[in-house]
Amino acid sequence: MHEVIIIGGGPVGLSAAICLANQGIKSILIEKHSATTNHPKARGVNCRSMELFRSWGLEDQIKQYQMPRESYRFTWIEDFQGKEITHVQATVDYSSYSPTENAIIAQDDVEEELFKKAQSMPLIDLRFNTEMIHASQGENQATVEILNRNTNQKETLSAQFLIAADGANSSLRKLFNVEMEGIDNLGVFCNIYCEMNLDKYVEHRPSAGFMLTRPDLRGTFLLSKKGHKKWLVGVRIGSNPHLTKESFTDDFCVEYVKKVINEPEVEPRLINKSFWTMAALIAKQYRVGRVFFAGDAAHRLPPTGGFGMNTGIQDVHNLAWKLAMVLRGQADESLLDTYFTERVQIAKTNTSWSIENARRFETIFTALARNDLAACEEALNDQAHHINNILLDLGFVYGSEYQAEDTYKPSGKIGARAPHCWLLQDNEQISTLDLYDKQFVLVCHPEASHWQSKFHQFSCKIITIGERGEYSDKNHDFLEKYEISKQGAVLVRPDGHIAWRSHDENGKMAYWSWLLTRASKR
Ligand SMILES: Cc1cc2nc3c(=O)[nH]c(=O)nc-3n(C[C@H](O)[C@H](O)[C@H](O)COP(=O)(O)OP(=O)(O)OC[C@H]3O[C@@H](n4cnc5c(N)ncnc54)[C@H](O)[C@@H]3O)c2cc1C
Repeated sequence: MHEVIIIGGGPVGLSAAICLANQGIKSILIEKHSATTNHPKARGVNCRSMELFRSWGLEDQIKQYQMPRESYRFTWIEDFQGKEITHVQATVDYSSYSPTENAIIAQDDVEEELFKKAQSMPLIDLRFNTEMIHASQGENQATVEILNRNTNQKETLSAQFLIAADGANSSLRKLFNVEMEGIDNLGVFCNIYCEMNLDKYVEHRPSAGFMLTRPDLRGTFLLSKKGHKKWLVGVRIGSNPHLTKESFTDDFCVEYVKKVINEPEVEPRLINKSFWTMAALIAKQYRVGRVFFAGDAAHRLPPTGGFGMNTGIQDVHNLAWKLAMVLRGQADESLLDTYFTERVQIAKTNTSWSIENARRFETIFTALARNDLAACEEALNDQAHHINNILLDLGFVYGSEYQAEDTYKPSGKIGARAPHCWLLQDNEQISTLDLYDKQFVLVCHPEASHWQSKFHQFSCKIITIGERGEYSDKNHDFLEKYEISKQGAVLVRPDGHIAWRSHDENGKMAYWSWLLTRASKR
């Protein structure tokens, strides 16, 4: 029997396989297509996801596709021949909070790099061009029937756990009767992906997105990839009563893009097209027995805000170390229930924020339709919140409610992402975040001898930071950001979130002491 089978080779399934392999767990990944996506859906890779890519050794490879920073803006135009109405720029500076930063990188490029990474890891068995056609589960195992589309051969595989990363229309969700709650249709869109040279219109105002306000084009947006030669032209189908899904033949798509650009010299070449329904739905459960739901299979977020892929990647980062501990017999299965309680809260907050962003767009279009310039200006100013949301990106705290705000303060709270501080060792600089990935890590000042000897018995890494420590604290901000004294200590989980902390030497260890004692005895 296998350890884990993953259904779906999108960004979430591939990330799940990588996270599990980093934990020493083997997986088989089943993907029905023969290759990763050729359609750039998501483009906003948030800072937390970049931090994960960094910890997987992928930061540089993925960053090669990023758009230049000056193009991190939305520009509102009547159309490409008409006047520019305004633009909204991303202004968040991540440099004091993270060793990396958010980036605009198309999903097809991200997936390609995740695929290459997964392919290079011996613990991952990638089976593309293979479809999961049935699944079932018993008390001790989950079973899937797969069809190899190359050979037309069927095969049955069993594993201790199954991860359903099979996307928004997840067949596993239907098979295991997982209900979703929320809004199931916020609009149907056609994405027309094409190649065309718009340099003349964009070179002086590089933008990740252009929103068109001309009355007959309302609901149309253009999203660009690095180099500005490939464009995703999004059309809200219901915005024009004469348009239906059937209208969008290949020829119609090319003609529509020509109408949008309105310049005879621009010859769009259609690459492909895709229909999608904007929804705001969250599964009522992320687990049915041995089956775990992640990514779009667990939550469908409106793309306004750019959280769908990011939330999904972070789901499996949360799940993988827990599955690994259970598979190694180091924790009992109740640990797996925290996957839902921790991650559903994040999905809910990110969904509300994304709905709010969609509302912000609507407000602008309504104000424009009414020619209400004051309301329009107010709504446009409000758009700045859409692309600047550091708190949702880095400030989410497992186990506590939080509000979307523009400001973020690093926190040593239990459940928070452990803060970034620059550390030095033999003149080599690393981030505290580079210490967290595979196992529990206790970080403390060298004077915290009480906690060092207490944790010595456990199978966790102990790292001392500060004068005469293993690492020196480059900016002298470690104790402040982690909110401890020199006698205190912080235990960080393998996913970089804070498990436990004691401000001084008097803290109680409770659950974590129990869990780590068990883990160390195995
Ligand atoms: C216009 C647009 C813009 C977006 N912008 C952003 C953004 O800026 N930031 C962001 O974070 N998100 C964004 N998103 C959302 C993002 O694209 C999705 O959240 C993301 O693709 C979800 O990844 P996933 O791996 O869960 O699912 P998917 O990418 O859908 O992958 C699921 C995979 O499962 C496979 N599969 C399904 N059924 C089977 C089966 N039976 N057998 C084998 N394989 C199967 C599919 O072929 C597919 O490859 C955007 C989406 C759209 C449409």
